[in-house]
Amino acid sequence: MLKLYNTLSKKVENFKPIHNREVGLYTCGPTVYNFAHIGNLRTYIFEDLLQRVLEYNGYRVNRAMNITDVGHLVSDADEGEDKLEVGAKREGKHPLEIARFYTDKFFRDLTELNIIKPGVVKSATQTIDAQIEIIKLLEQKDYTYQNESGIYFDTSKLPDYGMLSGQKLSGKKTGAREEVVVDPHKKHPQDFVLWFFLAGKYKNHVLHWPSPWGEGFPGWHIECSAISRKALGQPFDIHTGGVDHIGTHHTNEMAQSEAAFGVPLANIWMHGEFLQINSGKMAKSAGTFITLDDLKAKGFSPLDLRYLYLTAHYRTQLNFTWEGLEAAHKALERLYAFINLPRPGEDWKKEVDKSYQNQFIDAINYDLNIPKALGIARSLMDDPNILNSVKITTLFDFDKIFGLKLEDTERGYPTWLTIAAIQDQDMGLKLKAIMLTREKAREQKDFQKSDELRKQIEDLGYEVMDTPEGQKVKKKVNI
Ligand SMILES: [Zn+2]
Repeated sequence: MLKLYNTLSKKVENFKPIHNREVGLYTCGPTVYNFAHIGNLRTYIFEDLLQRVLEYNGYRVNRAMNITDVGHLVSDADEGEDKLEVGAKREGKHPLEIARFYTDKFFRDLTELNIIKPGVVKSATQTIDAQIEIIKLLEQKDYTYQNESGIYFDTSKLPDYGMLSGQKLSGKKTGAREEVVVDPHKKHPQDFVLWFFLAGKYKNHVLHWPSPWGEGFPGWHIECSAISRKALGQPFDIHTGGVDHIGTHHTNEMAQSEAAFGVPLANIWMHGEFLQINSGKMAKSAGTFITLDDLKAKGFSPLDLRYLYLTAHYRTQLNFTWEGLEAAHKALERLYAFINLPRPGEDWKKEVDKSYQNQFIDAINYDLNIPKALGIARSLMDDPNILNSVKITTLFDFDKIFGLKLEDTERGYPTWLTIAAIQDQDMGLKLKAIMLTREKAREQKDFQKSDELRKQIEDLGYEVMDTPEGQKVKKKVNI
C-alpha cells in the first residue's frame, strides 16, 4: 500500500484516492521572469517521482500546473513590484514576451531532466475570468474587503486559517521574515490581495483587465485555486510544491478555495525540501543561483543532476556541491556501462527478479524512499547470484521511477566516441590529430609518448580510453 507524508496531518498516511484508480495531482508552477535554478528544479523532480510512483502503482494521474505570469510580487506578502514587470524592465521587453521566453526555457529544462510534463498547463493570464468568478463568490460570502488599493481576503473570517503551517493567527509573528513590511491597507497582517487596482505604485502596471471592481490584476494565489478547480475539481487528491509555499502561498490558496466552495481544496499536501548550495540557501532574489545551463557548461548532463536528486529524500535538505554532482556523474556512468555490458553466451532472460522488485516497491511506496530504492538497485547490480540479463531487465523496471533513460539509446548523455565519430570542428581536428599520433605511438609500443599524448588530450578537456575498437574519447566534466 502506498503511504505518503501529508503536511496537513504531519503524518505518513495510507493513500486512498477520491476516485478509484484516478489521482488528481496539482503542482504549483514557476513564476516565469527568470531562469529556473537547480533548487527550483529539485521540486519538479520530486513531483515527477511522485507521479511515476503513482503510475507504477497502477493509478492514472491527472496532473495540472499553473504558470505565474502576473501578480506575483517580489515579496510573497504582497509587497514590491510584480516580478514579471521586474523582468520586463530588466530586459526592455513586454511582460508577456518575458513570460513566453522563460516558460519555453522552463519546459526545455524539464524535458532535459526527463520530467513528465503535466497534462494540463495554464497560465494566470489565461484564466483571469475564472479567478474573478472566485473573488466574486468570496465577496458574496463576505470574506473580502475593499479599499483604494484592492480587494483583500479577510483571514479573520476563517477560523481554520493557517492550519497548513500550524501557525494560528494569533501566533503568527509579523516581521518574522525580514522582507515583510506590513501593508497599511490590510486589516490583519496575514490578509492577502485577491485583486489589485491600478492605483498607487501599481498605477502603471502593464498587464490589467476589467473586473466588477474596475481595471486591475489578480493577486498571486487566486490563479491556483481557479486552475486546480477547473482541471481537477475540488477537493482533489494531492497538492504539491516547495516547502517555501507552505506559510503563505498554499495557506492562502487553501483559505480562499475553502471559503469560496465550503469543501477542502486537496486531501494531501506534499512539499519538497530546499536545496542548499555550499551549505547556504540558494535564492533567485540573492542573485546566487545555478541553472541547468551552468551545469552543462561544465560538461555535466541534466541526468547527472537527476541522479544526484535521487540520492536524497524529498523531505530532507540536500546540500549541493560540485563534488557531489561529480560523484553522481560517475555513479550514473557506471550504471550506463552496466546496462551496456556485453552478454556473451548467456540466454537473454527478459524477467524481473521478484525479490529485489518487492524490496524496491516497499521503498518507493513508503513516502517515496527513492534513496533506498537506489541502494536496492546497487545491491542488485553487485549480486553474484543473479544473471546479468535478469539484473538489467529489473533495472529497466526500476527506471520507470528513476527516469534515467536506461533503455534509451538516445539519452543525450555524453558518450565515448571513436576517432571517426568526432565531429570536425576546430577542437575536433586538434583532438583527432593527437589521437592519430597516439595510435601510432601505441602501435610502436612507445608508451611514454602515448602517455604524454593522453595528457594533451586531457588538457583539451577530454578523457581517453583504450578499447578493443581503438581509442575512445569523451568530454570531461570540469568542476
Ligand atoms: Zn500555487
